[in-house]
Amino acid sequence: MNHKIAIVGFGGMAGWHYDEIQTIGNLEIAGIWDIREERRQCAAEKGLHVYGSLEELLADQESDLVLIATPNDVHKPVAIAAMKAGKNVISEKPVTLSSGDLQEMMDVSEETGRFLTVHQNRRWDEDYLTVKKILEEGKLGELFRLESRVHGSRGIPGDWRQEKEHGGGMILDWGVHLLDQILLLFADVPLRRVYATVTNVTNQLVDDGFYAELVFANGVTALVEVGTSNFVSLPRWYILGTDGTAVIEDWSLNGRIVRASGVDEKDVTPVITAAGLTKTMAPRRDDSIFTEELPKVKSDVREFYYNVMAVLEGREESLIRLPQVMRVMKLMEAIAKSAETGEAVRFEE
Ligand code: NAD
Repeated sequence: MNHKIAIVGFGGMAGWHYDEIQTIGNLEIAGIWDIREERRQCAAEKGLHVYGSLEELLADQESDLVLIATPNDVHKPVAIAAMKAGKNVISEKPVTLSSGDLQEMMDVSEETGRFLTVHQNRRWDEDYLTVKKILEEGKLGELFRLESRVHGSRGIPGDWRQEKEHGGGMILDWGVHLLDQILLLFADVPLRRVYATVTNVTNQLVDDGFYAELVFANGVTALVEVGTSNFVSLPRWYILGTDGTAVIEDWSLNGRIVRASGVDEKDVTPVITAAGLTKTMAPRRDDSIFTEELPKVKSDVREFYYNVMAVLEGREESLIRLPQVMRVMKLMEAIAKSAETGEAVRFEE
């Protein structure tokens, strides 16, 4: 069955969707609408149909799907109008700015019977899928800590992402991806407590980075950090279990797993520092550890669209479930609250 998708907002991310859709069978672009003439012209140059208004786009009976790739504050009104006009909706992330707004969108989806989903494409990131595999295989023994970071050094982008009213800030921008990944790893484990701080190095209006400690009911703590003034990046993932440690340095999946070999280190050679000596912090002897390659996982992010089409045809359940999206939205609110009050926030208790 063929599907036709109309795109609202034809900026940077819509360009990515455009390229991807060219490689997907049974999916065509019906046309686009953008408030900026320059972007409408860009679409026309690619041979796309350009609607005269949002209303015209929504009235077109040719399309069964609408992709919303506008700034974050525009997702909700367009999604609601689209569902009321009979369209199924893919919203870019973050789905909207608050859990109350998301509830309204979910209510309209329920009332109209239209499918609403969110482009949580980073569920297909290979570094994340590799972490998932390491944990599923129990390679590190019992997990007790996990750290997930993305670091850049150019500050927050100088567009609408700098403005609160458009849903700017890094919690909503990158945080939504990293928190979604962590909550999926612990889908059935209540998250008890959240402590967070934000940075305002390059921007005073919205957060240009944040740091959140998440304490789960099974005793695992997860640190999630987004930084935009970090000229030296820390590893993308650092995972600690009782039997070993995994590090994933970057998106190219450089990294390793180091595990205890079972050989007892009877005579640890102490490290002599300028001011004393230590055995506790001395490096491991080579025969007491194994170093292994990461169990790298390959992915195809087009599965997102294949799944959306299968849902519309009644063949599959949605991979992105709205209660999962709601859990992330509430967590982003808890992070903002903790950062504002300077206190840990209780969650899912
Ligand atoms: P952008 O500024 O490049 O593009 C947004 C476009 O929307 C602009 O062309 C703008 O003119 C248009 N627009 C603004 N208001 C509009 C309205 N009311 N109606 C129609 N068009 C309107 O921004 P972007 O980087 O493409 O981000 C767009 C969305 O995609 C955001 O929600 C962002 O969070 C998301 N995004 C997702 C990913 C991802 O990996 N999933 C990556 C980048 C951006």
